[in-house]
Amino acid sequence: MLSFLQTKLEHVPSIGLQKSVLLKKELRLQTVEDLLQYYPFRYHERNCLHKVTDIQVGMNYIQLRGTLVYIQHSQAGKKKLLASLQDSTGEMRLLWFQGLTWILKRLKIGTVYTVRGKPTYYNQQLVLIHPELEITTSNTFHDVGLLPVYHSTEKLKMQRLDNKNLVRLQRNLLEQVSHHIPETFPDNILKRYKLVSKFTAWHDIHFPKTHEALKNARTRLKFEELFYLQLQLLQLKQTQLEKRKGEVLRNTQLLRDFFATYLPFTLTTAQKRVVREIYHDLRSGYAMNRLLQGDVGSGKTIVAFLSMLISIGSHAQVAMMAPTELLAEQHYNELRGFSQSMNISIALLTGSTKKKEREEISTALKTGALQVIVGTHALLSTHITFKKLGLAVIDEQHRFGVSQRAKLWTKTQAYFPHVLVMTATPIPRTLAMTFYSDLDVSVIDEMPAGRKPIKTMHYYDAQRLKVFRFLENQIVASGQVYIVYPLIEESEKMHYKNLIDGYESICRAFPKFPVGIVHGQMRAAEKTYEMQRFVKGVTKLLVSTTVIEVGVHVPNATVMVIENAERFGLAQLHQLRGRVGRGNSQAYCILMTDTQLSNKSRERIKTMVRTNNGFEIADADLQLRGPGDLLGVQQSGVLDFKIADLAQDGELLQEAQTAAQQLLKEDPTLIHPQNLSVKTQLERMHHMIPWGSVS
Ligand code: ADP
Ligand code: MG
Repeated sequence: MLSFLQTKLEHVPSIGLQKSVLLKKELRLQTVEDLLQYYPFRYHERNCLHKVTDIQVGMNYIQLRGTLVYIQHSQAGKKKLLASLQDSTGEMRLLWFQGLTWILKRLKIGTVYTVRGKPTYYNQQLVLIHPELEITTSNTFHDVGLLPVYHSTEKLKMQRLDNKNLVRLQRNLLEQVSHHIPETFPDNILKRYKLVSKFTAWHDIHFPKTHEALKNARTRLKFEELFYLQLQLLQLKQTQLEKRKGEVLRNTQLLRDFFATYLPFTLTTAQKRVVREIYHDLRSGYAMNRLLQGDVGSGKTIVAFLSMLISIGSHAQVAMMAPTELLAEQHYNELRGFSQSMNISIALLTGSTKKKEREEISTALKTGALQVIVGTHALLSTHITFKKLGLAVIDEQHRFGVSQRAKLWTKTQAYFPHVLVMTATPIPRTLAMTFYSDLDVSVIDEMPAGRKPIKTMHYYDAQRLKVFRFLENQIVASGQVYIVYPLIEESEKMHYKNLIDGYESICRAFPKFPVGIVHGQMRAAEKTYEMQRFVKGVTKLLVSTTVIEVGVHVPNATVMVIENAERFGLAQLHQLRGRVGRGNSQAYCILMTDTQLSNKSRERIKTMVRTNNGFEIADADLQLRGPGDLLGVQQSGVLDFKIADLAQDGELLQEAQTAAQQLLKEDPTLIHPQNLSVKTQLERMHHMIPWGSVS
């Protein structure tokens, strides 16, 4: 029966060559299966009839029933066919420009018709142009349920592939395929997840009798898509894992000593959970490949340090890589404090490390005398080799290419090191599950106790004076202020001018306070100098573009002002906001916008004001932008679902993943006869997904 599904449409008698060419060109449908998977985009209630008097322009799709009372066939000028349908409330004009002879044959004064279409104005009259037309016989309305509406195109309509005929085609196909549609799930999965059969699903998505039936059909088809994607991703991961043998790191003595004596606070539940997840990986014998997500300030560094202790305790070195010198330095300072108490040797290596020191570090890493190295991508230099690198921690993965990561991995002799990637840019779980399929994901979704959440406020440009007064009070109370301007590359000159204008107006508005400025066109040394002045509290206000680094730690900074906030994406707004609120005082984020805002901009601003939670923000971002946009992978193939939607179907995805995991656990190679359907389906799909695009 599979072969019937793969039949080319041109070989289906009711379609024929001409239409099949068009279906391929216009809708990219080639086989019976393609067409059956061309799902309606909405449905029309069959028994919901409009009345002529209620019809207005702007209505999307109406359905009328009435008697044909008038026909006029004009041959002169532009050929057209005009007719009129009367119901109890009035008359509706129907108009055709094409296929006139064929339509004329079907029109008969006095007959009752049901017509459907979109009302439009033509010659100052409300008409239905090329409506779908159906003779209302006594049994038309026995056919209860919802009427499918398919996307069609002008070209298709001209070849009489309008909605009505697409409906007929689908019905025809379903009858031919009938109950022989192969089921792609074993019974136990159908039962456990309460899924309708494949045939029922295909039938009901096109011709649902009730809304309930439609919902069940959609759920089943979504589940199938998500399940098979997850199954393939799991299999892929399994093969990768087998290739990725890793050092067994299981000595927790140092970890326990540190806990007993030096840990400066109690870990949050989330931190404890993540440390357990990491420990599980480190001792597994396979190289860890884990993404640690957590908002700024959620305490990722201590988790990294605890993981380091397991590695060092098991006599393997640790490298930690940050995207900028400033960040590397901050990590180094923080980790050095912890390390010294534990008698662990640690060093910093960046582009500005002096040659002599660099050589010493290089030697110490080779001999194993140096246990922890923190640095920038300078760590990837070929001169740096380790005695035995057990764990590589990489901060802010977005700034490192995969190839750079890979380079670090290959530095060890026998095995790849364990890799922990940390990011403060949360990715919605649904996306992480499908897109970063080669990574395991850990989440710190809880802030340390006693944090004061940042207060976020939205002001319009006209309220600027009020905002300035607020800033002044903050500075007087010994706070510091960031003022960030958007800088979009294409029109860099213009925005650069905005920034300079902004800087000058800030200087004028705050004559009593030193103001700094940082932007991308400054030299690195200048930038660092300006940053340092702000870090030290010399400058009270820092005007900048978004170049100020993620994760920079200025405890005194209490206010983040974002100018033209409507031009930033949610993720970026959240990132910027995370640069304040690192001290003990209440911190604020002020979003300045124009009064004219698009709906999406307004929604973004509202989301920011409503929540501080990075995961909630990531989800809102996903709803607003869609998965492809969010990941910048519009045409990946992996996210091309026919019906599932990662923005909407998070729960279903979770269930589908569980189902796939369970199946592979019970039957890893799919040899049980009951799973034959799964095996067959997988084999069919295998050539359909472009695996090269999965990172
Ligand atoms: P991030 O996730 O942004 O890297 P950090 O690791 O820099 O966060 O942690 C932010 C601050 O919170 C640091 O000063 C750190 O010492 C502190 N911290 C981390 N975990 C806890 C905790 N469980 N309780 C109290 N303070 C914590
Ligand atoms: Mg950090």
